[in-house]
Amino acid sequence: FDDRDGWIWLDGDFVPWRDARLHVLTHGLHYASGVFEGERAYSGHIFKLREHTERLIASGRILGFEIPWTAEQIDAACQATLAKNGQTDAYVRPIAWRGSEQLSVSAQQTKIHLAIATWPWPNLFGDSRMKGVRLTWAKWKRPHPETAPTASKAAGLYMIGTISKHAAEAEGFDDALMLDWKGDISEATGANVFLAIDGALHTPTPINFLDGITRRTVIALAKKRQIQVVERTIPQSDLARASEVFLAGTAAEVTPVRQVGDLAFTPAQITETLLKDYEALVRLPPEEVAARLAA
Ligand code: PMP
Repeated sequence: FDDRDGWIWLDGDFVPWRDARLHVLTHGLHYASGVFEGERAYSGHIFKLREHTERLIASGRILGFEIPWTAEQIDAACQATLAKNGQTDAYVRPIAWRGSEQLSVSAQQTKIHLAIATWPWPNLFGDSRMKGVRLTWAKWKRPHPETAPTASKAAGLYMIGTISKHAAEAEGFDDALMLDWKGDISEATGANVFLAIDGALHTPTPINFLDGITRRTVIALAKKRQIQVVERTIPQSDLARASEVFLAGTAAEVTPVRQVGDLAFTPAQITETLLKDYEALVRLPPEEVAARLAA
């Protein structure tokens, strides 16, 4: 992934993609003191850019550091990176981390770095997406919010995601569905989950996982369609009551699910409507996105 043409914004300058390197004693690598974002540009506009930037800044504060750039500067840097790479439709990855000035659990002397990369990435699930993805249950549980900083998009929280995704792929599945520490449904390894039950849309309350920007967008779109939305604790056994299941996330967009463990699902009207509404919304200019979602 490091051997390609293009530019990466690094601490205020554009660096050729291949030269954007770090020292091996970077604190973020040893102690996971990093936070990141995943954004998508459609037709030249980064969808919900300010919300992503604010979440990035908030994620850093949860880990106890302040990113040395304002939200306006970060927004402008994301747009500038996209333009420098000549892209209008791309995935956008800002990441902030503690540097290599000090290497111990205490890292008060470290400098906070910020980098932004953009690259073409059509969909997290590629060709599997439209026919519906197959999920298995993860062995690892999402932690209690007092066990890990679950409201932060912190690099360290992705450790159990990668282990779970690899285990799922080794068994021939596309992804893993994770439970929380109590055994209730939480989310996939990189996207939130929705269930259609008796014509209503059910989704877990975001107490132990990221309240995704796509998740909130899908909830707003469902309400616009007069689809009832229920945010609640969803026991694992409730999945058998669902007629449709889908994932929602920036990289996954709206992705239909056709299997979870032993249960099969057929994407139908609710998934198809919200998938189309989401695809249409993301291509609107930012002012129109806000107007479309306003009550
Ligand atoms: N959960 C996890 C673990 C994720 O990585 C993501 C993607 N950032 C999401 C949920 C969805 O968040 P968003 O819709 O803001 O991309």
